[in-house]
Amino acid sequence: MAQRILEPGEIETLAAHSIPRIRIPDRTQLFAKRAERLRALAQTSPIGDYLRLFAVVADAQHLAVADFVVELPDAVQIKMAQTHRMPPISAANRPRAPQWRVALQAICAAVAQQPRLPDAVAQISARLRDAAADELEAHADILLGVREGEIDAAAAPFLMAALQVNWVALASRFAASEVEPIDVLGLCPLCGSLPVASVVATRAPYQGYRYLHCALCACEWHMVRVQCSQCGASGKDIAYRSLTGIAESDTAADAAAVRAETCEHCHSYRKILYQEKDPAVEPVADDLASIALDLLLAEQGYARASGNPLLWQPAD
Ligand SMILES: [Zn+2]
Ligand SMILES: [Zn+2]
Repeated sequence: MAQRILEPGEIETLAAHSIPRIRIPDRTQLFAKRAERLRALAQTSPIGDYLRLFAVVADAQHLAVADFVVELPDAVQIKMAQTHRMPPISAANRPRAPQWRVALQAICAAVAQQPRLPDAVAQISARLRDAAADELEAHADILLGVREGEIDAAAAPFLMAALQVNWVALASRFAASEVEPIDVLGLCPLCGSLPVASVVATRAPYQGYRYLHCALCACEWHMVRVQCSQCGASGKDIAYRSLTGIAESDTAADAAAVRAETCEHCHSYRKILYQEKDPAVEPVADDLASIALDLLLAEQGYARASGNPLLWQPAD
C-alpha cells in the first residue's frame, strides 16, 4: 500500500491529539527553581554578580507570587478572546492588577538589602520605590508594547520581574486543556508575548517534545523541533550553534545543554535547552547565563529573535 506523505499542517493536526500542547507554570515552584538555577550558574559565569542579583529578585518574586491575588477576566471575555483566536490574558490588557506595583516594591526592597550593592543598582531600586503609580504604569505600558516610548533599560528588568509575578499568577489559574491555539505563530497562547527560549523536555508525557517558554507568564507551548520559532522556516535553514561548534541536527551528539537554533531565512535565533543534557536547565536563567553565546552569534551576524526579560538591551 502506497504511503501518503503528510503535509506539515496535517502532521500538526495529528500531533495535536497526542502531544501535550501546553504546560502551565507552577507558581509554587517557578521562581524558586529559577533562583536556584541562577545561583548555580553564577558560580562559573563571567556575569556571576548579575545572576546572583537576579537570584535575589527571583526569591522576591517567589514570595510575591505566593500571596498574589489576581482576578481573571470573566468567562465571557475569555471565551470571546478564544473564539477570535486571541490570547485571553493579553499582556496589553488594561487595567492591570495594581498589586504588580506591590510586587515591585517587594523586589526593590529585597535588592536594596543586599550587601555590597553597586551604586547604580541601589539608585535604580530607590528610584523605582519612590516612583509615582502613573509613572510606573507608563513604564509598564511601554515594556509590554501597549504604547510607544523610550524604555528605561536599567529599570526594565525589575519592572519586568514584577509584571511576571502578575502574569504568572494569572497563567497558573488556567488548566492546560483550557488554553486554545492563537493565530500568530510564535506568540504565547495565553498572554501573546514572545518566548524567551525553548526547552526539549525529558519527562513523560512531554519527553522529546520542544516547548517555547513565555518570557512574561511562563506558559509553555509545544512547537515541532527543527523549525524557526521566529519565521517558521525549517529544514536546511536551521542549524544549532553552541560555543563548541555547529550542528545541522538538534539530535547531534553535542555536549552543550544550551544551543542557539539559528535560521538562515530570517537570520535570527533563540536558544534551545536540552533537559536530557542537564535536567536543571531553566529558560530565563540559562538564556541569561549563556550571554557568551549571544556575543558569538552577534559576531556571526545573527540577531536575537527576542530579548531576555531580565536583561534589557536597547533596540538597535
Ligand atoms: Zn505568556
Ligand atoms: Zn527564521
